[in-house]
Amino acid sequence: MNLDVTPVTEVSGVGTKRAEDLTSLGIRTVADLLAYFPYRYEDFRVADLGEAVHEEKITLQGTLFGSPSIRWYGKKKSRLTCRMQVQGVTISLVWFNQHFLKNKLVPGQTVTVHGKWDAHRLWLTVDRAFLTPEEQQKQVGRLEPVYSVNASVTVSWLRKTIAQAFRQFGGKIREILPQALLERYQLMGRARAMVLLHFPKGREEGRQARRRMVYEELFLYELKLLWRRRQEKKEAAGIAHSIDPERLKAFVNHIPFPLTEAQRRVVNEILTDMRHPERMTRLLQGDVGSGKTVVAAIALYANYLSGYQGAMMVPTEILAEQHLKSLKEWLEPWEMTVVGLSGGMTAKERRDVMGQLQMGLADVVVGTHALIQEAVAYRNLGLVITDEQHRFGVKQRSLLREKGENPDVLYMTATPIPRTLAITAYGEMDVSTIDELPAGRLPVETYWVKRDVWPRVIQFIRKQCGEGRQAYIICPLIEESEKVDLQNAQSVFEEAAQELAPIRVGLLHGKMAAAEKEEVMKRFAANDVQVLVSTTVVEVGVNVPNATVMVVYDADRFGLAQLHQLRGRVGRGQEASTCILVANPSSETGIERMRVMTETTDGFEIAQRDLALRGPGDFFGFKQSGVPEFKVADLVEDGKVLEVARADAVRLVESDDLWVEEEYAPLRCWIQAFEKEASMMD
Ligand code: ADP
Ligand code: MG
Repeated sequence: MNLDVTPVTEVSGVGTKRAEDLTSLGIRTVADLLAYFPYRYEDFRVADLGEAVHEEKITLQGTLFGSPSIRWYGKKKSRLTCRMQVQGVTISLVWFNQHFLKNKLVPGQTVTVHGKWDAHRLWLTVDRAFLTPEEQQKQVGRLEPVYSVNASVTVSWLRKTIAQAFRQFGGKIREILPQALLERYQLMGRARAMVLLHFPKGREEGRQARRRMVYEELFLYELKLLWRRRQEKKEAAGIAHSIDPERLKAFVNHIPFPLTEAQRRVVNEILTDMRHPERMTRLLQGDVGSGKTVVAAIALYANYLSGYQGAMMVPTEILAEQHLKSLKEWLEPWEMTVVGLSGGMTAKERRDVMGQLQMGLADVVVGTHALIQEAVAYRNLGLVITDEQHRFGVKQRSLLREKGENPDVLYMTATPIPRTLAITAYGEMDVSTIDELPAGRLPVETYWVKRDVWPRVIQFIRKQCGEGRQAYIICPLIEESEKVDLQNAQSVFEEAAQELAPIRVGLLHGKMAAAEKEEVMKRFAANDVQVLVSTTVVEVGVNVPNATVMVVYDADRFGLAQLHQLRGRVGRGQEASTCILVANPSSETGIERMRVMTETTDGFEIAQRDLALRGPGDFFGFKQSGVPEFKVADLVEDGKVLEVARADAVRLVESDDLWVEEEYAPLRCWIQAFEKEASMMD
C-alpha cells in the first residue's frame, strides 16, 4: 500500500466534506496527514513552582482552598478567582469568562492547571484545568501537539484524526533512509519518529524524533536537487566557448587597476566553465563594491571572442543605465557594440535594438526584464548574466536562459547569503565568491543617531559638500501619509534644500518618470547635484564614487540587507566615508538592526545575523526566491545537519550504489516518483 496516493478519506471519520477542509491545509493523502507535524506542544507535565517564568506557560499541581469568587464586568465578562496552595506557596488561579466552573472548584481538592504565569501577582491565568482524578490521569504528563489550522479545521479534531490515521496506517509507513545512514547517525526508524513527533512521551524522545525527520527532510531535499542538476547537466549540452587567450590577456591588461586576487580566482572559475561543453550555472557573490561589474565585462568579452552575443539583465532602470555606461566604457574600445533595452524606450527605439540583436549587429545588450519579453530574439546568445539576481523570481531567471541554445548563465548578487541558504536556494548552482575588496578601501564609519540631532547631520553634510564630496539622504516613503509618522522624500527634500542652500539638492523617487530619474542621476553623477534625497531606488548597484555620506532616515524601517546595500553606495572611492542611521526604533529588532550595522561592515556576517533575526522564510523578502519551506527543518537551527545531509547526498549521487544496492530501493522509487511528476509537468 502506497500512502502517498491513498486519499485521506480512507481514514475513518474523514468524509468528503472533511477531506475538502483538509485540502485547505494542503493535506490530500494519508501520507500528507501523517506528515502534518505540530509546530509546538502544549506541555502538561507538572513543574515546580520554582521553574515558573514570568509571562510563560506552565503546568502546576496543588490544593484548592478558600472559596472561589466571581467578579462581573458588565453582563458578559467575568473573572473567576480561586486560591491554590503549591509547594507551601499560595497563588491565585484566574479564569476569564468561565464563571460556570465555580461550582466545580471544591476546597481541599487536588487539581492540575496549565496557563500563563504572572510572577509579580503570583497569578496563573488558567487555559486548561484538570479537576477530576480521571482528567488528570488522562492528560497530566502529556505533551499535546498544536497544529497550525484555519477556520474550517480545529486543532482538537485534527489531533483526533491524526491519531486515528496512525492507528489505521502507522504500520504501513516504510523506511526510506538506507540502513547505513540510520546507523551512522543513530537515527530512529521512520514510523516511530513520525508518531513520536506528533505524540511525544517526553522531551528527549521528541527531540530524537525531530532529529531523525530533520535529517530525512534535508537529505531528501539535497538529493533531489543534486539529482536534478546531474540530469540537467547530462541533457543540456551547453556551449564550449573557444576563447583566444592572447586577445583576452590584452583586454585584462588594459584594465586601469590590478584585479584583486579574488577577482582573478572567480574570473578563472567562470572562464573554465565557459570553455566546458556543459552549460554554466554559476552564482557570483561578492559584497557591495567588491568589483563584480568588471568580472562581468571580462566574461562578456570572452564570450564575444568566441563569437557569441551576451545579455545582462538588471532589476531597475537606473542600474541598467549605469551598467550600460560602464560596459560601453569597458567593451566598446574593443570593437564591441553594446546596446540597452528598457521599458522606458520608445517603440521605435525598441524595434531598432531588437533588430540589431536579431541580426547579430549588437554584441551585448543590457536591460531590465524587458529582455525576457517574448518578442526579443537573439542571433546567437552565448552568455546571460543577471545582476542582483535575488531581485528576480525563479521564473524570470529561467526565461532569459531559454532565449538561446543553452547559453551559459552567470548570476551575480551583492546580497551575501549565509551558506545554509545558498546551498538550499541555489543548490543547483556552482558558487564563486569575491571575498576581498579592492585595496585601499576604507571601511565606512557608521553611526546611529536619534532624530533630534538632525541639525547636526545637516551640518555634517554641508561640511562634506564644502570639501567637494556628495551625500545621499534616503527616506522610506514617497508620499505624505497621515497614518504613518515617517519622514518622506518629498518633505525631507524641501527641508534639506532650504537648510543646505546654496548646495544643490536633488530628489529621486520611484513615482518619477524614467527620463526624470535618469536626468537626476546624471546630474548627481556629474556632481551637478551634490545631495540626493531619494527613496530606495538607489539601493542596488548605483556607483558614484565621489559620494561619501549616506544618511538613512528612519533607518529602523529598513531590513539589514537593504541597509547594507545602501551603505554600500558610499566608500567606493579613496575618501573616508560615513553612514549615519537616523532612527528612533520602537522595537527590539529595530534596535538590534541598528546595533548590527554599527558593529560590522562585513556583508556575510550581516547576512548571518539577519537570518537569525528574521528566519529563512523572510530572508529574501519574497517566497519566489526558491528557498523551500521545510516541514520540520529550520535553516537557522539546523544548518549543521544540512551540511552533513548535503555531503551524504553528494556521495550517494556520485556513486553507483544508488542503482544497485537493495537498501536504496525506497530511494530509487522516490526518485522515480518525482521524475515522473516532473515529466508530466513539461
Ligand atoms: P559591485 O561588486 O558592488 O558591483 P562594482 O563592480 O560597481 O562593485 O565596483 C565598484 C568600484 O570599484 C567600481 O568603481 C570599479 O571600477 C572599482 N573596482 C573594481 N575592481 C577593482 C580593483 N581590483 N581595484 C580597484 N578598483 C576596482
Ligand atoms: Mg554591481
